Amino acid sequence: MVGVDEALERILAVEPLPPESVGLAGARGRTLRETVTADRDLPPFDRSKLDGYAVRRAALREGPVRLPIVGEIPAGTVPDFAIGPREAAAIMTGAPTPAGADCVVKVEDTTRDGDFMEWPAPGRPDAIPGPGYGVSPRASEVRQGTTLLEPGVRLSSAAVGLLATVGHVQIRVGRLPKVAVLSTGDELTHPRAQRLRPGQIRDANSHLLAARCRALGLPTKRLGHVVDEPLRLASEIARGLRGDVLIVSGGVSMGRFDLVEPALEDQGMRMHFAAVAIRPGKPFVFGTAPDGGPPIVFGLPGNPVSAFTTFEVLARPALDRLQGRRDPRRPRVPVRLAAPITNRGPRRAFLPARVWTGPDGELVAMPVRSAGSADIGAVALANALLVAPENAGTVAVGETLCCQPFGDSPDPGPGWHDPRA
Ligand code: AMP
Ligand code: MG
Repeated sequence: MVGVDEALERILAVEPLPPESVGLAGARGRTLRETVTADRDLPPFDRSKLDGYAVRRAALREGPVRLPIVGEIPAGTVPDFAIGPREAAAIMTGAPTPAGADCVVKVEDTTRDGDFMEWPAPGRPDAIPGPGYGVSPRASEVRQGTTLLEPGVRLSSAAVGLLATVGHVQIRVGRLPKVAVLSTGDELTHPRAQRLRPGQIRDANSHLLAARCRALGLPTKRLGHVVDEPLRLASEIARGLRGDVLIVSGGVSMGRFDLVEPALEDQGMRMHFAAVAIRPGKPFVFGTAPDGGPPIVFGLPGNPVSAFTTFEVLARPALDRLQGRRDPRRPRVPVRLAAPITNRGPRRAFLPARVWTGPDGELVAMPVRSAGSADIGAVALANALLVAPENAGTVAVGETLCCQPFGDSPDPGPGWHDPRA
Protein backbone atom coordinates (compact mmCIF):
# COMPACT_ATOMS: atom_id res chain seq x y z
CA MET A 1 0.00 0.00 0.00
CA VAL A 2 1.31 3.45 -0.89
CA GLY A 3 0.47 6.78 0.76
CA VAL A 4 -1.68 9.36 -1.02
CA ASP A 5 1.24 11.69 -1.73
CA GLU A 6 3.44 8.94 -3.08
CA ALA A 7 0.61 7.59 -5.23
CA LEU A 8 0.03 11.05 -6.68
CA GLU A 9 3.71 11.55 -7.33
CA ARG A 10 3.90 8.31 -9.28
CA ILE A 11 0.71 9.06 -11.20
CA LEU A 12 1.89 12.55 -12.11
CA ALA A 13 5.10 11.15 -13.59
CA VAL A 14 3.08 10.32 -16.72
CA GLU A 15 4.24 12.17 -19.86
CA PRO A 16 1.87 14.79 -21.25
CA LEU A 17 0.12 14.10 -24.54
CA PRO A 18 1.46 15.98 -27.58
CA PRO A 19 0.21 19.53 -28.14
CA GLU A 20 -2.23 20.65 -30.81
CA SER A 21 -3.37 23.99 -32.17
CA VAL A 22 -6.71 25.64 -31.38
CA GLY A 23 -8.31 28.99 -32.19
CA LEU A 24 -9.49 31.57 -29.67
CA ALA A 25 -12.99 30.09 -29.52
CA GLY A 26 -11.62 26.75 -28.32
CA ALA A 27 -8.92 28.02 -25.98
CA ARG A 28 -10.70 28.53 -22.64
CA GLY A 29 -10.00 25.75 -20.16
CA ARG A 30 -7.18 24.32 -22.25
CA THR A 31 -3.59 24.05 -21.03
CA LEU A 32 -1.09 26.30 -22.76
CA ARG A 33 1.97 24.55 -24.22
CA GLU A 34 3.97 27.53 -25.42
CA THR A 35 5.19 30.89 -24.18
CA VAL A 36 3.08 33.87 -25.19
CA THR A 37 4.75 37.27 -25.40
CA ALA A 38 3.52 40.79 -26.15
CA ASP A 39 3.78 41.41 -29.90
CA ARG A 40 3.91 45.16 -29.27
CA ASP A 41 3.92 47.68 -26.45
CA LEU A 42 0.67 47.93 -24.51
CA PRO A 43 -0.72 50.50 -24.86
CA PRO A 44 0.95 50.81 -28.26
CA PHE A 45 0.83 54.64 -28.05
CA ASP A 46 0.20 57.36 -25.45
CA ARG A 47 -3.54 56.89 -25.12
CA SER A 48 -6.29 59.07 -23.73
CA LYS A 49 -8.21 57.50 -20.83
CA LEU A 50 -10.99 60.06 -21.12
CA ASP A 51 -13.31 61.92 -23.41
CA GLY A 52 -12.08 65.51 -23.09
CA TYR A 53 -9.43 67.92 -24.29
CA ALA A 54 -5.74 67.29 -24.75
CA VAL A 55 -3.88 70.37 -23.52
CA ARG A 56 -0.56 71.53 -22.16
CA ARG A 57 -0.75 71.90 -18.38
CA ALA A 58 1.01 75.23 -18.55
CA ALA A 59 -2.02 76.59 -20.44
CA LEU A 60 -4.19 76.07 -17.36
CA ARG A 61 -4.13 78.39 -14.39
CA GLU A 62 -6.45 79.14 -11.54
CA GLY A 63 -9.54 80.85 -12.83
CA PRO A 64 -11.15 80.24 -16.16
CA VAL A 65 -9.13 79.76 -19.35
CA ARG A 66 -10.42 79.80 -22.91
CA LEU A 67 -8.48 77.81 -25.50
CA PRO A 68 -9.09 77.39 -29.25
CA ILE A 69 -9.92 73.83 -30.34
CA VAL A 70 -7.50 73.09 -33.16
CA GLY A 71 -8.61 69.56 -34.02
CA GLU A 72 -10.59 66.50 -33.06
CA ILE A 73 -9.12 63.03 -32.45
CA PRO A 74 -11.56 60.10 -32.51
CA ALA A 75 -10.35 56.65 -31.33
CA GLY A 76 -8.74 54.76 -34.19
CA THR A 77 -7.20 57.87 -35.81
CA VAL A 78 -3.76 59.39 -35.45
CA PRO A 79 -3.47 63.18 -34.99
CA ASP A 80 -1.43 64.74 -37.81
CA PHE A 81 -0.97 67.95 -35.86
CA ALA A 82 0.65 69.12 -32.66
CA ILE A 83 -1.00 71.47 -30.21
CA GLY A 84 0.57 74.74 -29.31
CA PRO A 85 1.15 76.15 -25.79
CA ARG A 86 -2.33 77.71 -25.61
CA GLU A 87 -4.38 75.29 -27.71
CA ALA A 88 -6.67 72.31 -27.09
CA ALA A 89 -7.65 69.25 -29.14
CA ALA A 90 -10.93 67.44 -28.56
CA ILE A 91 -10.01 63.81 -27.87
CA MET A 92 -11.98 60.58 -27.31
CA THR A 93 -11.22 57.68 -24.96
CA GLY A 94 -8.68 55.34 -26.58
CA ALA A 95 -7.31 57.89 -29.07
CA PRO A 96 -3.59 58.72 -29.30
CA THR A 97 -2.71 62.01 -27.63
CA PRO A 98 -1.31 64.70 -29.93
CA ALA A 99 2.25 65.95 -29.75
CA GLY A 100 2.52 68.96 -27.47
CA ALA A 101 -0.12 67.77 -24.97
CA ASP A 102 0.85 66.56 -21.51
CA CYS A 103 -2.59 65.87 -20.03
CA VAL A 104 -6.24 65.40 -20.89
CA VAL A 105 -8.95 67.31 -19.03
CA LYS A 106 -12.35 65.68 -18.65
CA VAL A 107 -15.11 66.90 -20.91
CA GLU A 108 -17.32 67.20 -17.79
CA ASP A 109 -14.92 69.82 -16.39
CA THR A 110 -15.20 72.04 -19.49
CA THR A 111 -17.75 73.96 -21.48
CA ARG A 112 -17.67 74.32 -25.21
CA ASP A 113 -18.32 77.58 -26.97
CA GLY A 114 -18.10 77.12 -30.74
CA ASP A 115 -14.46 76.46 -31.58
CA PHE A 116 -13.33 77.21 -28.03
CA MET A 117 -13.28 75.23 -24.83
CA GLU A 118 -13.49 76.85 -21.42
CA TRP A 119 -12.00 75.35 -18.29
CA PRO A 120 -13.14 74.82 -15.60
CA ALA A 121 -16.85 74.56 -16.20
CA PRO A 122 -18.91 76.57 -13.68
CA GLY A 123 -19.01 74.80 -10.32
CA ARG A 124 -16.25 72.35 -11.28
CA PRO A 125 -12.90 72.19 -9.43
CA ASP A 126 -10.14 74.41 -10.79
CA ALA A 127 -7.21 72.30 -9.50
CA ILE A 128 -4.75 71.87 -12.35
CA PRO A 129 -4.45 68.18 -13.25
CA GLY A 130 -1.10 66.52 -12.55
CA PRO A 131 1.37 65.73 -15.34
CA GLY A 132 0.09 62.90 -17.52
CA TYR A 133 -3.41 63.14 -16.08
CA GLY A 134 -5.91 61.29 -18.28
CA VAL A 135 -3.17 59.58 -20.33
CA SER A 136 -1.94 55.94 -20.32
CA PRO A 137 1.64 56.22 -21.51
CA ARG A 138 2.89 53.84 -24.21
CA ALA A 139 4.10 50.50 -22.72
CA SER A 140 2.76 51.34 -19.25
CA GLU A 141 1.05 47.90 -19.16
CA VAL A 142 3.78 45.81 -20.83
CA ARG A 143 6.71 46.23 -23.17
CA GLN A 144 6.92 44.39 -26.50
CA GLY A 145 8.51 40.97 -25.99
CA THR A 146 7.48 40.61 -22.34
CA THR A 147 6.30 37.10 -21.38
CA LEU A 148 2.57 37.18 -20.68
CA LEU A 149 1.67 33.49 -20.29
CA GLU A 150 3.90 30.51 -19.60
CA PRO A 151 3.58 26.88 -20.68
CA GLY A 152 1.52 24.76 -18.32
CA VAL A 153 -1.09 27.34 -17.30
CA ARG A 154 -4.78 26.74 -17.74
CA LEU A 155 -6.29 29.36 -20.03
CA SER A 156 -8.99 31.40 -18.29
CA SER A 157 -11.50 33.63 -20.05
CA ALA A 158 -9.28 36.61 -19.19
CA ALA A 159 -6.30 34.81 -20.75
CA VAL A 160 -8.34 34.42 -23.96
CA GLY A 161 -8.86 38.19 -23.92
CA LEU A 162 -5.12 38.65 -23.48
CA LEU A 163 -4.34 36.29 -26.38
CA ALA A 164 -6.71 38.31 -28.57
CA THR A 165 -5.05 41.56 -27.43
CA VAL A 166 -1.64 40.39 -28.62
CA GLY A 167 -2.96 38.84 -31.83
CA HIS A 168 -2.14 35.28 -30.78
CA VAL A 169 -4.93 33.45 -32.58
CA GLN A 170 -3.46 29.98 -33.14
CA ILE A 171 -2.66 28.61 -29.73
CA ARG A 172 -0.61 25.51 -28.87
CA VAL A 173 -2.41 23.64 -26.12
CA GLY A 174 -2.24 20.13 -24.70
CA ARG A 175 -4.45 17.63 -26.47
CA LEU A 176 -7.46 16.61 -24.37
CA PRO A 177 -7.19 13.01 -23.21
CA LYS A 178 -9.90 10.74 -24.62
CA VAL A 179 -11.45 9.02 -21.66
CA ALA A 180 -13.39 5.74 -21.53
CA VAL A 181 -15.42 4.77 -18.47
CA LEU A 182 -16.39 1.20 -17.60
CA SER A 183 -18.24 -0.30 -14.63
CA THR A 184 -17.76 -3.93 -13.65
CA GLY A 185 -19.92 -6.23 -11.57
CA ASP A 186 -22.36 -9.13 -12.06
CA GLU A 187 -24.88 -7.29 -9.90
CA LEU A 188 -25.16 -4.21 -12.13
CA THR A 189 -28.06 -3.25 -14.37
CA HIS A 190 -28.73 -0.23 -16.54
CA PRO A 191 -30.34 2.60 -14.52
CA ARG A 192 -33.45 2.35 -16.67
CA ALA A 193 -34.20 -1.10 -15.19
CA GLN A 194 -37.36 -0.92 -13.09
CA ARG A 195 -37.87 -4.54 -12.00
CA LEU A 196 -34.60 -5.56 -10.45
CA ARG A 197 -33.96 -9.08 -9.22
CA PRO A 198 -32.89 -9.46 -5.61
CA GLY A 199 -29.17 -8.75 -5.40
CA GLN A 200 -29.15 -6.46 -8.41
CA ILE A 201 -28.32 -2.75 -8.23
CA ARG A 202 -28.25 -0.03 -10.87
CA ASP A 203 -24.90 1.01 -12.30
CA ALA A 204 -24.23 4.45 -10.83
CA ASN A 205 -20.49 4.67 -11.43
CA SER A 206 -20.22 4.73 -15.20
CA HIS A 207 -22.75 7.58 -15.25
CA LEU A 208 -21.18 9.39 -12.30
CA LEU A 209 -17.64 9.19 -13.69
CA ALA A 210 -18.61 9.97 -17.28
CA ALA A 211 -20.55 13.02 -16.06
CA ARG A 212 -17.52 14.10 -14.05
CA CYS A 213 -15.15 13.75 -17.00
CA ARG A 214 -17.54 15.63 -19.27
CA ALA A 215 -17.83 18.38 -16.66
CA LEU A 216 -14.05 18.67 -16.90
CA GLY A 217 -14.41 19.25 -20.64
CA LEU A 218 -13.00 15.90 -21.73
CA PRO A 219 -14.15 13.80 -24.67
CA THR A 220 -15.68 10.88 -22.83
CA LYS A 221 -17.05 7.53 -23.91
CA ARG A 222 -19.20 5.65 -21.41
CA LEU A 223 -18.74 1.96 -22.09
CA GLY A 224 -21.47 0.99 -19.63
CA HIS A 225 -21.18 -2.02 -17.37
CA VAL A 226 -19.73 -5.47 -17.87
CA VAL A 227 -20.04 -8.71 -15.91
CA ASP A 228 -17.22 -10.23 -13.85
CA GLU A 229 -16.31 -12.75 -16.53
CA PRO A 230 -12.76 -12.82 -17.88
CA LEU A 231 -13.51 -12.88 -21.64
CA ARG A 232 -16.21 -10.20 -21.59
CA LEU A 233 -14.09 -8.08 -19.26
CA ALA A 234 -11.04 -8.49 -21.52
CA SER A 235 -12.90 -7.30 -24.59
CA GLU A 236 -14.37 -4.22 -22.85
CA ILE A 237 -10.99 -3.34 -21.37
CA ALA A 238 -9.38 -3.67 -24.79
CA ARG A 239 -11.98 -1.24 -26.17
CA GLY A 240 -11.33 1.19 -23.34
CA LEU A 241 -7.57 1.10 -23.88
CA ARG A 242 -7.94 2.47 -27.43
CA GLY A 243 -8.29 5.94 -25.89
CA ASP A 244 -5.81 7.75 -23.66
CA VAL A 245 -7.35 7.01 -20.26
CA LEU A 246 -9.48 4.11 -19.08
CA ILE A 247 -11.37 4.46 -15.83
CA VAL A 248 -12.76 1.17 -14.54
CA SER A 249 -14.79 0.84 -11.38
CA GLY A 250 -15.33 -2.25 -9.28
CA GLY A 251 -13.45 -5.51 -9.25
CA VAL A 252 -10.18 -4.25 -7.80
CA SER A 253 -10.34 -5.59 -4.25
CA MET A 254 -9.65 -9.02 -2.80
CA GLY A 255 -12.81 -10.95 -3.77
CA ARG A 256 -12.79 -14.05 -5.92
CA PHE A 257 -14.46 -12.10 -8.77
CA ASP A 258 -12.16 -9.09 -8.63
CA LEU A 259 -10.65 -9.66 -12.05
CA VAL A 260 -9.75 -6.19 -13.26
CA GLU A 261 -6.07 -6.10 -12.37
CA PRO A 262 -5.18 -9.47 -13.95
CA ALA A 263 -7.25 -8.52 -17.01
CA LEU A 264 -5.24 -5.31 -17.40
CA GLU A 265 -1.97 -7.22 -17.02
CA ASP A 266 -3.14 -9.64 -19.72
CA GLN A 267 -3.53 -6.66 -22.06
CA GLY A 268 0.12 -5.75 -21.48
CA MET A 269 -0.49 -2.90 -19.06
CA ARG A 270 2.19 -2.22 -16.47
CA MET A 271 0.59 -1.97 -13.03
CA HIS A 272 2.26 0.38 -10.55
CA PHE A 273 0.33 -0.20 -7.34
CA ALA A 274 -2.94 -1.76 -6.20
CA ALA A 275 -3.77 -0.05 -2.91
CA VAL A 276 -3.54 3.49 -1.55
CA ALA A 277 -3.82 4.64 2.07
CA ILE A 278 -6.98 6.62 1.41
CA ARG A 279 -10.40 6.48 3.03
CA PRO A 280 -12.77 5.71 1.47
CA GLY A 281 -11.20 3.66 -1.26
CA LYS A 282 -8.15 1.62 -0.32
CA PRO A 283 -8.22 -0.69 -3.37
CA PHE A 284 -7.07 1.47 -6.28
CA VAL A 285 -4.96 0.34 -9.20
CA PHE A 286 -2.91 2.49 -11.52
CA GLY A 287 -1.36 1.25 -14.71
CA THR A 288 0.38 2.62 -17.78
CA ALA A 289 1.54 1.29 -21.10
CA PRO A 290 4.90 -0.50 -20.73
CA ASP A 291 6.80 2.69 -21.69
CA GLY A 292 5.15 4.54 -18.77
CA GLY A 293 2.94 6.65 -21.03
CA PRO A 294 -0.67 6.56 -22.20
CA PRO A 295 -2.91 4.73 -22.36
CA ILE A 296 -3.16 4.93 -18.62
CA VAL A 297 -5.71 3.13 -16.51
CA PHE A 298 -7.29 3.71 -13.13
CA GLY A 299 -9.12 0.89 -11.40
CA LEU A 300 -11.38 2.47 -8.80
CA PRO A 301 -13.24 0.73 -5.98
CA GLY A 302 -16.85 -0.07 -6.76
CA ASN A 303 -18.61 1.80 -3.99
CA PRO A 304 -19.74 5.06 -5.59
CA VAL A 305 -18.36 7.37 -2.87
CA SER A 306 -15.02 5.57 -3.03
CA ALA A 307 -15.04 5.77 -6.82
CA PHE A 308 -15.83 9.48 -6.72
CA THR A 309 -13.25 10.24 -4.04
CA THR A 310 -10.38 8.33 -5.62
CA PHE A 311 -11.23 9.83 -9.01
CA GLU A 312 -11.17 13.34 -7.56
CA VAL A 313 -8.03 12.90 -5.48
CA LEU A 314 -5.91 10.63 -7.66
CA ALA A 315 -7.24 10.46 -11.24
CA ARG A 316 -8.32 14.03 -11.88
CA PRO A 317 -4.82 15.49 -11.41
CA ALA A 318 -3.55 12.98 -13.98
CA LEU A 319 -6.08 14.22 -16.52
CA ASP A 320 -4.64 17.72 -16.10
CA ARG A 321 -1.07 16.44 -16.19
CA LEU A 322 -1.74 14.67 -19.51
CA GLN A 323 -2.66 18.07 -20.93
CA GLY A 324 0.64 19.49 -19.69
CA ARG A 325 -0.50 21.38 -16.60
CA ARG A 326 2.53 22.55 -14.64
CA ASP A 327 0.94 21.98 -11.26
CA PRO A 328 -2.00 19.66 -11.63
CA ARG A 329 -2.41 19.13 -7.91
CA ARG A 330 -5.83 20.17 -6.60
CA PRO A 331 -5.92 23.35 -4.53
CA ARG A 332 -6.15 23.01 -0.75
CA VAL A 333 -8.43 25.58 0.79
CA PRO A 334 -8.38 26.16 4.57
CA VAL A 335 -11.80 25.89 6.25
CA ARG A 336 -13.06 26.17 9.83
CA LEU A 337 -14.90 23.11 11.09
CA ALA A 338 -18.57 23.56 12.01
CA ALA A 339 -18.70 20.02 13.46
CA PRO A 340 -15.99 17.74 14.83
CA ILE A 341 -14.52 15.02 12.65
CA THR A 342 -12.53 11.93 13.53
CA ASN A 343 -9.89 10.02 11.65
CA ARG A 344 -8.20 7.26 13.60
CA GLY A 345 -5.93 5.10 11.59
CA PRO A 346 -3.18 5.48 9.05
CA ARG A 347 -5.24 6.30 5.96
CA ARG A 348 -5.89 9.89 4.84
CA ALA A 349 -9.64 10.51 4.93
CA PHE A 350 -11.64 12.62 2.51
CA LEU A 351 -15.08 13.50 3.87
CA PRO A 352 -17.86 14.98 1.76
CA ALA A 353 -18.56 18.43 3.19
CA ARG A 354 -20.59 21.50 2.55
CA VAL A 355 -18.42 24.64 2.50
CA TRP A 356 -19.70 28.18 2.61
CA THR A 357 -18.56 31.68 3.52
CA GLY A 358 -19.21 32.39 7.20
CA PRO A 359 -20.31 35.74 8.66
CA ASP A 360 -16.73 36.94 9.17
CA GLY A 361 -15.76 36.04 5.59
CA GLU A 362 -13.96 32.84 6.54
CA LEU A 363 -14.85 29.57 4.85
CA VAL A 364 -16.76 27.17 7.10
CA ALA A 365 -17.12 23.42 6.50
CA MET A 366 -19.85 21.10 7.69
CA PRO A 367 -19.26 17.41 7.00
CA VAL A 368 -22.29 15.90 5.30
CA ARG A 369 -23.79 13.04 7.26
CA SER A 370 -22.98 9.86 5.37
CA ALA A 371 -23.99 6.25 5.83
CA GLY A 372 -20.71 5.07 4.34
CA SER A 373 -18.98 4.61 1.05
CA ALA A 374 -22.07 3.52 -0.87
CA ASP A 375 -23.97 6.67 0.15
CA ILE A 376 -23.57 8.77 -2.99
CA GLY A 377 -26.42 10.99 -1.75
CA ALA A 378 -23.98 12.50 0.76
CA VAL A 379 -21.64 13.54 -2.04
CA ALA A 380 -24.55 14.96 -3.99
CA LEU A 381 -25.10 17.39 -1.09
CA ALA A 382 -21.42 18.31 -0.83
CA ASN A 383 -19.24 20.80 -2.67
CA ALA A 384 -15.86 19.84 -1.22
CA LEU A 385 -13.87 16.97 0.23
CA LEU A 386 -12.60 17.73 3.70
CA VAL A 387 -9.09 16.35 4.17
CA ALA A 388 -8.56 14.61 7.53
CA PRO A 389 -4.87 13.79 7.86
CA GLU A 390 -3.61 10.31 8.68
CA ASN A 391 -3.96 9.54 12.44
CA ALA A 392 -5.58 12.94 13.08
CA GLY A 393 -7.75 11.63 15.94
CA THR A 394 -10.65 13.97 16.71
CA VAL A 395 -10.50 17.48 15.28
CA ALA A 396 -12.75 19.88 17.21
CA VAL A 397 -15.27 22.49 16.10
CA GLY A 398 -13.54 25.74 15.19
CA GLU A 399 -10.27 24.06 14.20
CA THR A 400 -8.92 24.59 10.70
CA LEU A 401 -8.52 21.81 8.14
CA CYS A 402 -8.03 21.88 4.39
CA CYS A 403 -10.60 20.98 1.81
CA GLN A 404 -10.51 20.24 -1.89
CA PRO A 405 -13.40 22.07 -3.50
CA PHE A 406 -15.18 20.34 -6.32
CA GLY A 407 -18.13 21.36 -8.35
CA ASP A 408 -19.42 20.82 -11.80
CA SER A 409 -17.55 23.75 -13.19
CA PRO A 410 -13.87 22.95 -13.63
CA ASP A 411 -12.76 25.64 -11.17
CA PRO A 412 -15.39 26.54 -8.59
CA GLY A 413 -14.41 29.45 -6.40
CA PRO A 414 -15.38 29.92 -2.78
CA GLY A 415 -18.35 32.06 -1.82
CA TRP A 416 -21.06 29.45 -1.61
CA HIS A 417 -24.15 30.14 0.35
CA ASP A 418 -24.78 29.06 3.91
CA PRO A 419 -27.02 26.02 3.41
CA ARG A 420 -28.81 26.83 6.67
CA ALA A 421 -29.77 30.35 5.61
P1 AMP B 1 -16.33 -4.03 -5.76
O1 AMP B 1 -15.33 -2.92 -5.74
O2 AMP B 1 -16.56 -4.60 -7.12
O3 AMP B 1 -16.00 -5.06 -4.72
O4 AMP B 1 -17.71 -3.37 -5.33
C1 AMP B 1 -17.86 -2.79 -4.05
C2 AMP B 1 -19.30 -2.38 -3.82
O5 AMP B 1 -19.66 -1.38 -4.75
C3 AMP B 1 -20.28 -3.50 -4.02
O6 AMP B 1 -21.30 -3.37 -3.05
C4 AMP B 1 -20.84 -3.23 -5.40
O7 AMP B 1 -22.13 -3.74 -5.59
C5 AMP B 1 -20.82 -1.73 -5.47
N1 AMP B 1 -20.68 -1.28 -6.85
C6 AMP B 1 -19.78 -1.73 -7.73
N2 AMP B 1 -19.92 -1.13 -8.92
C7 AMP B 1 -20.94 -0.26 -8.79
C8 AMP B 1 -21.59 0.64 -9.68
N3 AMP B 1 -21.18 0.75 -10.94
N4 AMP B 1 -22.62 1.37 -9.23
C9 AMP B 1 -23.03 1.24 -7.95
N5 AMP B 1 -22.46 0.41 -7.04
C10 AMP B 1 -21.43 -0.36 -7.46
MG1 MG C 1 -17.55 -6.20 -7.91
